Amino acid sequence: RQLTRQSLRYPYSIPTAPAFLRLYSMGHTVPPLKDKSLFIEKAYVNGEWVGAQSGKTFEVHDPSDGKLIGTCPEFDAADTEKAIDAAAAAFPAFRKTLARERARMLRRWYQLMVDNADDLATLITWENGKPFADAKGEAIYAANFFEWFSEEAPRVYGDTIPSSVPGNRIITLKEPVGVCGLITPWNFPAAMITRKVAPALAAGCTVVVKSPGETPFTANALAELAHRAGIPKGVVNIVTTNENVAEVGETLTTHPTVRKVSFTGSTNVGRLLMKQASSTIKKVSWELGGNAPFIVFDDVKDIDAAVAGAITSKFRSSGQTCVCANRIYVQKGIYDEFAKRFADKVRGFKLGPGFESSTTHGPVIHSRAVDKVAEHVHDAASKGAKVVVGGERATEFGENFYHPTVLTGMTKDMLIASEETFGPVAGLFPFETERDVIELANRAEVGLAAYFFSSDVKRCFRIAEALEVGMVGVNTGLISDAASPFGGVKQSGFGREGSKYGIDEFVTIKAVTFGGI
Ligand code: NAD
Repeated sequence: RQLTRQSLRYPYSIPTAPAFLRLYSMGHTVPPLKDKSLFIEKAYVNGEWVGAQSGKTFEVHDPSDGKLIGTCPEFDAADTEKAIDAAAAAFPAFRKTLARERARMLRRWYQLMVDNADDLATLITWENGKPFADAKGEAIYAANFFEWFSEEAPRVYGDTIPSSVPGNRIITLKEPVGVCGLITPWNFPAAMITRKVAPALAAGCTVVVKSPGETPFTANALAELAHRAGIPKGVVNIVTTNENVAEVGETLTTHPTVRKVSFTGSTNVGRLLMKQASSTIKKVSWELGGNAPFIVFDDVKDIDAAVAGAITSKFRSSGQTCVCANRIYVQKGIYDEFAKRFADKVRGFKLGPGFESSTTHGPVIHSRAVDKVAEHVHDAASKGAKVVVGGERATEFGENFYHPTVLTGMTKDMLIASEETFGPVAGLFPFETERDVIELANRAEVGLAAYFFSSDVKRCFRIAEALEVGMVGVNTGLISDAASPFGGVKQSGFGREGSKYGIDEFVTIKAVTFGGI
């Protein structure tokens, strides 16, 4: 592990950041970590840190300024097969581990994540770009899945079922599905991984994680903590790749040893992986793209609360969460007032690199993401929307920054009405009636999250039931919680993560019939 490379020098001055970050900004040439051994430029297979057989690596860059953070092994199909073999070799013993023992491992891993939350947050900010405070929030949220599933692990109960055949008795056993291939995106470098790995291990499965090419170092730090938590070798494997992603993805989704694939990412890649996984009829779950409607009815008693909810839902991680509000529908009676207060809040944002203590919003992940944002804003403006705040690239910070933007006068023929922007742009659509807005909200081909604000309790039930999504926020813009089932309907995929249901994705039900009793 090379920890003293000049390329790792962090340039920002961070006046009120924690002391360890200040030191770094003063010219130290190691990553800004309290525990530098959490920065690892390798992949993790069978309990060991390894390179690719080819010796090839890929570079990872800081989205704030494009500077090199480090390199990781460029795995190919053969490297991935080794990781699958390791997971397969570890499975027979791990599935037999007492559930309470697996619970203790997960609990130790949770505690190590909490103890190292500053370092995990530093890695998240460094490679993802989100502000340090948000990254710290993610580190804790991610850890919560280990705590939650440490508690679920000993409660994977089967049934006893009255038989319809005289003299027979039926019981069910819930068994771990086997080796799991887990593929996750960069937008939550820690939480998207723990949300899958925690229930998989709780169930007794072993895993091969393909970490995102943009954010492999957070995944590696998690693996190092797994090692310290005493997770046996081969139970958790991390494969790293960037250019070979299609080859590695194909290996994970077609290899007969892999019995389950869980993917979080875009709907288009999900479609491809589903096709590939069909070749060996794997158990699958897909957490795919969203296009969340956020509806504000004019019966709301507290417009500021609705504005705050919309801001949280829309602009968290600079609009790069799958549950981000993408279409904000505001009823005509309060449209102008809502738009004014909403725009005022956005004007107060402070754009900048994630390690600056004053930064409220960071860069987007890469220049392609900026291009998409710019395209959506241009499309809306050319069709009559008004740019009230922002509306342009923030080149003064770097090529991955776009000014947080508010558009009014949005209509259903604009791209934002039907496509996920995945960036810091809020389009406000006026609407007249409850029926109109439900029709607009449900037009999307995807159905992950939806939100609405209303002070009418009957309407709250009506709307929650009418929305075609997997998750609804009523009078709140924040719905993520390890205790709550996370997942979508329609082309947002199927399967649930978190909650008591999360573990179901990693077990099979075996019916055992006893005869002649
Ligand atoms: P993406 O689909 O391009 O990438 C997601 C992951 O898939 C990454 O690890 C990527 O390397 C990998 N990948 C890409 N091509 C692959 C292939 N051919 N085979 C195997 N793996 C492949 O998505 P993205 O743009 O990086 O992430 C944003 C998308 O993810 C958005 O659409 C967002 O809504 C969605 N998302 C969904 C959820 C959810 O829980 N439903 C959560 C976060 C993000």
